[in-house]
Amino acid sequence: MLAYVTLVTNADYGRGALALARSLRQAGAAHPLVVLATENAGYLDELVAEGCRIIETARPELSAGFQERHSRDRQHSVAPFTKGEKPAFHDPLDNFCKLRLWQMGDYRKLVFIDADAIVLRNVDRLFDYPAFVAAPNLYETLQDFDRMNAGVFVAEPSVATYEAMLAELDQPERFWRRTDQTFLQYFFPDWHGLPYTFNVLQYVYFNLPELWLWPDLKILHYQYEKPWQVGHGKSDELKPLIDLWWQVFEGGTIPGDLPSPFAGAPTASDR
Ligand code: UDP
Ligand code: MN
Repeated sequence: MLAYVTLVTNADYGRGALALARSLRQAGAAHPLVVLATENAGYLDELVAEGCRIIETARPELSAGFQERHSRDRQHSVAPFTKGEKPAFHDPLDNFCKLRLWQMGDYRKLVFIDADAIVLRNVDRLFDYPAFVAAPNLYETLQDFDRMNAGVFVAEPSVATYEAMLAELDQPERFWRRTDQTFLQYFFPDWHGLPYTFNVLQYVYFNLPELWLWPDLKILHYQYEKPWQVGHGKSDELKPLIDLWWQVFEGGTIPGDLPSPFAGAPTASDR
C-alpha cells in the first residue's frame, strides 16, 4: 500500500492539511492522503469529506528532560529563529509526531508532506524514489544546499527503524535545534537529494527569485509564516503565494498565469 501522509495537531494545521488534500485531488494523485491527527486536531470532518484517512496519533514517549529542552520557550531562546517568524500555534514538540509514520507497517512506502504545503502538479513519481529522500533546505543562499528540509520526504515504514530512531533521539542532554529536521538529517546522513522543485520554500520567491520557475515547481512549502495567518510580517512580499493558497483552500484551480518574481521568466510554453 502507498499513501501520502501529513501531520495535524491543532485546527490551524488542520486547515493547512485541507488545502494540501484539495491540491492533491486536483493534481490527480493516485494515492490517498493519510492524516496523522492528535487529540487536539481540527478540520477532521472536512478532511474525511475530502477522502483522507485519519489515523490517531500522539507524541512519541519522550523523557521529561527532552520535553523541557524542546518546549517552545526553550527552543526559541536557545536557538532563536532569525530569518522568519514561527506562528504561536507551532509547538516544536509536536513536530516529533512525524516519526510515528515509521510505525505504519501496512504501508510499503509513504510520501510525507507538511500541512503547510500544497502540490502544484502531480508528484506520484515520488513513490519511485528509494527512501530516505528529501530536498535541500534552500531559501537564502547556496550554503542551504548542505541541509535538508523535512517538509517533504519519502520513507519506508518499519517498526525496527522507529525504535532505532527513538533510542537515538532521546538521549541525555541531546538538543535538536530544528527538531525533527535536524534529527532526520542526523539519522539519515546519506539522504538522497530531490530537486528543490519538489519542496520549494516560500522565501525563495524573494531571496532567490531566479529559481522561481512556475512551470517546474511541484510542491510549494510555506515555511515560517503561514498563508492563513492574517497580516503576518511577510504578507506583502508573499502576496501572490498567499492568494494562491487561498484559491486552493477554497477549492479553485491553480491558474496558469501566476506572477513571476522576476522579469523574463520562462513560461510553460518555453519548456
Ligand atoms: N505540526 C503540527 N503542529 C505543530 C507543529 C507542527 O501539526 O504545532 C506539523 C504540521 O504538519 C507542520 C509540520 O508539523 O506543517 C512542521 O511544522 P511547520 O510546517 O510549522 O514548520 P516549518 O515548515 O515552518 O519549519
Ligand atoms: Mn512546514
